[in-house]
Amino acid sequence: MASLYEIPIEKINGIGEKRARLYNKLGIVSVGDLIRFYPRTYEDWSKITGIFSAVPGEVCCIRATVEIAPASRVISTGRIMATSSVYDDTGYVKLVFFNNKYIHTMIKQGAEYLFYGKLTVSGGIREMVNPAFQNAGAAVPIHPIYSQVAGLTSKQIEAAAKRALDMLPETVKDTIPEDIRAEYDLIGLKDALLKIHFPKSKDDIDKARRRLIFEELLVLLVGLRSIKDLPEKKSSFRLERDYTNEFLNLIPFKLTNAQLKAIKDCVSDMSDGGSAMNRLVQGDVGSGKTMVAAAAAYNCIKNGCQAAMMAPTEILARQHFENLDSLLTPAGIKVRLLTGSMTAKQKRIVLEELASGETDFLVGTHSLISDNVVFNDLGIVITDEQHRFGVRQRSTLLAKGRDPHLLVMSATPIPRTLALMIYGDLDISIIDELPPGRQKVDTFLIDDSVRIRAYNFLIKNINEGRQCYIVCPAVDNTETGLKGVEEYAAEIAETVFKDHRVGVLHGKMKAAEKESVMSEFIEGRIDVLVSTTVIEVGVDVPNSTIMMIENAERFGLSQLHQLRGRVGRGKFKSYCILVSNARGEDAKRRLNALCETNDGFKIADEDLKLRGPGDFFGSRQHGLPELKIADIAEDIDILREAQTAAQDIMKDYSDPKNDDYRGLRAEVRMLFNSVGAQLN
Ligand code: ADP
Ligand code: MG
Repeated sequence: MASLYEIPIEKINGIGEKRARLYNKLGIVSVGDLIRFYPRTYEDWSKITGIFSAVPGEVCCIRATVEIAPASRVISTGRIMATSSVYDDTGYVKLVFFNNKYIHTMIKQGAEYLFYGKLTVSGGIREMVNPAFQNAGAAVPIHPIYSQVAGLTSKQIEAAAKRALDMLPETVKDTIPEDIRAEYDLIGLKDALLKIHFPKSKDDIDKARRRLIFEELLVLLVGLRSIKDLPEKKSSFRLERDYTNEFLNLIPFKLTNAQLKAIKDCVSDMSDGGSAMNRLVQGDVGSGKTMVAAAAAYNCIKNGCQAAMMAPTEILARQHFENLDSLLTPAGIKVRLLTGSMTAKQKRIVLEELASGETDFLVGTHSLISDNVVFNDLGIVITDEQHRFGVRQRSTLLAKGRDPHLLVMSATPIPRTLALMIYGDLDISIIDELPPGRQKVDTFLIDDSVRIRAYNFLIKNINEGRQCYIVCPAVDNTETGLKGVEEYAAEIAETVFKDHRVGVLHGKMKAAEKESVMSEFIEGRIDVLVSTTVIEVGVDVPNSTIMMIENAERFGLSQLHQLRGRVGRGKFKSYCILVSNARGEDAKRRLNALCETNDGFKIADEDLKLRGPGDFFGSRQHGLPELKIADIAEDIDILREAQTAAQDIMKDYSDPKNDDYRGLRAEVRMLFNSVGAQLN
């Protein structure tokens, strides 16, 4: 099979240079590529419908005899039209063919054919336009349909695929070792390839798909694991003593069991003296991930090394800094902040104290990864809201220490299967418990007609001493026609909220401006904060109780859930108001899903179902190859099996003497070469 990837597509009969270029557009360069170019769907000719019982407007397959052979004429538009009449036991259909000069040689009077296409009825006459047809005697029941490009039809691809399959050797080296095939009930590679293109039954399609989906996911998983295993595992900084209890005494509340468990996971990762911790702490907004990170950092610092925490925004970095500083300073730990907006002089002092080892814990934004940031002895790297950072940024920070431990905090509730897929062997701690006393945020979907009532509700809450967020999708509305924050804020500040303090916050503002608006809000000097999604991540103001979101249909469900997580953080009853005038059923269903649950994982799954995995799994974001046949949202069950199989395989995969994996290794290399990833 592997060698077929080296034979150019032009080697197939009937494919010249010009047509080859059309195939290239479909990503097909070699014979092997064509064989791996699976049908998009199939036409099922096996279910024959009587003409009379065919549902008008729907695609059907009829078996009929030709009463009148097609007769062609040129019609006004210059096109050639041929009409014909066919019948079965139940009735007659008029057939119309356009632009087929040879149709009269293909359909003979008195002969029986299968016709496949949409049947319509007008004026009592049943009609099919340009139906596909086959000789009834020799009909193939199921037809592959391929994605096509202009100039290349599905039929042509089908014919070429047939020739390509003929070029397969008698026995094909299977990508999946035999024992695994037996264990997971998978058909052989050659069998699957023949069946995926030219199935004889539904069962053939199912078996072929299962095998090929499994294979694709297995190749991906094994590849991911090979990347992860690349760096030499050095032994990392090791905790000699567990300081968790000491840490617990510093904080003013009791941690939840889920938090304690996550801390324990971290401590045990860092105490074994083996390879560095590589852990994802995943928990819904407000679940208290920061405390887990703080505990891990505390343990490292007390054991004698430095800690770094990187947050995606300046606001968030500052907030973390302030919390950690006041928490840890009493314990004699020196916490410092580093962000892009600091003056050169401020930065210089921070960097000096960092290099000398005087600073124990550095919190900051992307600026942490710049070259001039030098640690004395970096033992742990923590990244917050990790999905915002690329793999490269994380590894740059890691390179500043001697194989430091890594703790990644994420509130994006990536379904576990996906997380494993994306991060490979990253260990995961899930915080599935909110701190006690947290209330469910009541969520409502409204449209413009009750906007005034909604504003009055905000005012009522403000008058009780609370604060509110209003989020708009855009900074300004010149291009989009959406509500822009600036204009929107100005408008409400002069009208409904003229007796209250309205603030504005968006990403285009200078860091210092954002800073001061945010501190005013935190200090309660702003009642209504109108903002873009810059407040999406992490911001913690327990006194704010209403999150109102304009044009809610413009946001993804998980993003809306993140925004909603900004309220319901204190002891006050909190609300989320989604404003949308979208009429579409889909939009309403999405938004209603949010009204019905507060469970981030359920929402992520729903999002995944509704929007596909693109968001989590976009190949751009993670640098992962595109999948041809597997669909991670749909094929979760096969994914689980492939994970188990991949784990088994990894035990002896890198043993070069093991010949069972030759086919697999070739596929893995090919898949990952396509995205430029380096494998060992
Ligand atoms: P997230 O997981 O969204 O990052 P944070 O770590 O910001 O959540 O925590 C949200 C808020 O809850 C913070 O004000 C934090 O101090 C508080 N908190 C964290 N853990 C607990 C707990 N066990 N009990 C009470 N409050 C907690
Ligand atoms: Mg957080």
